[in-house]
Amino acid sequence: QQKVDRHAPLPPVPPAAAKAALSKVHPPPPPPVVTEPGEDGEQYSTGSFLGKGGFAICYEGQLVRNGRVFAMKVVRSEMAQKKMAEKFRTELEIHSKLRHPNIVRFHRAFAFESCTYVVLDLCSNGSVMDMVKRRKCLTLPEVRRFMIQLCGAVKYLHKRNVAHRDLKMGNLFLDHNMDIKVGDFGLAAMIISEKEAKRRQTLCGTPNYIAPEVIDRSKGGHNQKVDIWSLGVICFAMLAGFPPFQSKTQEEIYKKVKNLNYVWPKDNECSNFIPEQAKNLVSSCLNLDEEQRPSPDDIVDHDFFNMYSGCIPRALDPSWRQTKPVWL
Ligand code: ADP
Repeated sequence: QQKVDRHAPLPPVPPAAAKAALSKVHPPPPPPVVTEPGEDGEQYSTGSFLGKGGFAICYEGQLVRNGRVFAMKVVRSEMAQKKMAEKFRTELEIHSKLRHPNIVRFHRAFAFESCTYVVLDLCSNGSVMDMVKRRKCLTLPEVRRFMIQLCGAVKYLHKRNVAHRDLKMGNLFLDHNMDIKVGDFGLAAMIISEKEAKRRQTLCGTPNYIAPEVIDRSKGGHNQKVDIWSLGVICFAMLAGFPPFQSKTQEEIYKKVKNLNYVWPKDNECSNFIPEQAKNLVSSCLNLDEEQRPSPDDIVDHDFFNMYSGCIPRALDPSWRQTKPVWL
């Protein structure tokens, strides 16, 4: 019989980050130094854990050569190749070609020790979702600034025939300057033609942000106007603190979307006065007829952004992720 030594040191408890990554789909945490294969392969030293998604984990990575810090998204290579990982492949294909100040920049992707590493711009201030959760809702100047940056990114995408199709507050990351960087291109699609768009009638996106034509498959939606619908949902959610069609079940959300059934909170429920211009802008995006929705250019020309309606701050302070700014 084996004797139990009660004084033996206990095995080390894995840190929270390592625990979070201990699963079959998620890869193990990366080693202290990650080396890109090939002659010119770069080395990255692994920093702190940033978060995890469906099957990716994300760590800070510092380029050894010059000390620049990036986000490293790590996926098991077998996942990156499996059919179920189509999300990841489209992400690589589409995302790698995009360059815009308000889109998370894709730097490189490589394989290392049975994982695929994607090196991205680091967004050190979390997401708009985290900020809204903390703050409950944002002030009008913050919403204006975020919407303008978002419209710039969406205009860029649409001009290149890309539809993001999963725009939501959790995919709007914030860099060290508190500038928006749209990320997660896993559901993005190149809109090649009307026919191709019709072929891609799979349901996608988080139901809270879903456009009516995506629910109603017979209409064969999926043109870029689904992103404009999402802009309306995001704008509402930043001002109100909850998404417009929020419900317990998916069916209820769909029903509300199809009936355009949403209610603005009473002005001071979130200590926010929501002006008519903002409500009008949101309702123009939440139009059941996709053709009637505004373009990103129409949105930035809207009265909500004109100088008489109020200011658009030149910069936001990271402390406002937690505390409400006071505008003089
Ligand atoms: P998935 O595609 O599997 O859903 P995500 O792209 O959402 O994975 O990434 C998972 C998490 O990693 C995010 O929720 C976020 O916390 C973090 N993350 C992702 N990209 C970045 C980034 N560029 N900068 C900082 N953190 C990031």
